[in-house]
Amino acid sequence: MRALILGGTSEGRDLAKRMLAENWEVTTSLAGRVANPRLPVGMVRIGGFGGPAGLAQWIVSNDIDVLIDATHPFAEVISESAAEASRATGRPLIALHRPAWSPQPRDRWHSVHSVDEAARVVARDYSHIFLTIGRQKLAPFAADTHNLYVIRCVDPPEVALPPRNRVLLDRGPFDVAAEKKLMIGNQIDVVVTKNSGGNYTRAKLDAARELGIDVVMVERPPLPGGSNVIVVDNASDAMREARLV
Ligand code: NAP
Repeated sequence: MRALILGGTSEGRDLAKRMLAENWEVTTSLAGRVANPRLPVGMVRIGGFGGPAGLAQWIVSNDIDVLIDATHPFAEVISESAAEASRATGRPLIALHRPAWSPQPRDRWHSVHSVDEAARVVARDYSHIFLTIGRQKLAPFAADTHNLYVIRCVDPPEVALPPRNRVLLDRGPFDVAAEKKLMIGNQIDVVVTKNSGGNYTRAKLDAARELGIDVVMVERPPLPGGSNVIVVDNASDAMREARLV
């Protein structure tokens, strides 16, 4: 049996390993956004498909039995493309999306529904802002000339940045002690994050709670798809569903 995993996440890498161990032929697809991506086991292809039609064609030409969308919860375009390609080809689609984070006692979260809204909130209410939303959606913060932005991402940003910035190139996992040191050292008064979920990057939330620092949480977009999509939130359930196709 052949699977195509749309990846770019730790869950996608975990699933590729599990499927290979059960003798699936697995190809993981990566967008190619990161210069040195963590590679999964099995075959890997890199780059876009050219929209839903290109993805559907790839699925048919490579005789794929099941499509698994294990992309990041904020990668909306490729998830929509997967749902459309599944409808067009009749091949089943399993969407593996990790659970969102939810607030704990003493968390000081302010939920917003877009990065634009996050940018308006922090420019108005804070002065030392820790931006941990990746490098693609930084433009809405660029107009803020007053406040300091500490921007952490894996590769250097390629968009306009707010003039008062410190860019830190790093990737998770991070630990709470180092996150607290970073926040104290930069006098951070707010952390901006997407509600990605998972353990790789959650230390910033634990650190913010312990330090009494506010968090502006960009909540997830709805999962695209409709009734043809089998939605699971962990690799072992994805594996179970894949065995049933
Ligand atoms: P996106 O906005 O949903 O996708 C934009 C385009 O990139 C898609 O239309 C597709 O091009 C291509 N693409 C995206 N993921 C792909 C994949 N796994 N394989 C092949 N092509 C892919 O995606 P994004 O938010 O830029 O994220 C890109 C990748 O980074 C995803 O695979 C995601 O899992 C990973 N990632 C994203 C985030 C995040 O915060 N967004 C965080 C961590 C990791 P075509 O239309 O040409 O097929």
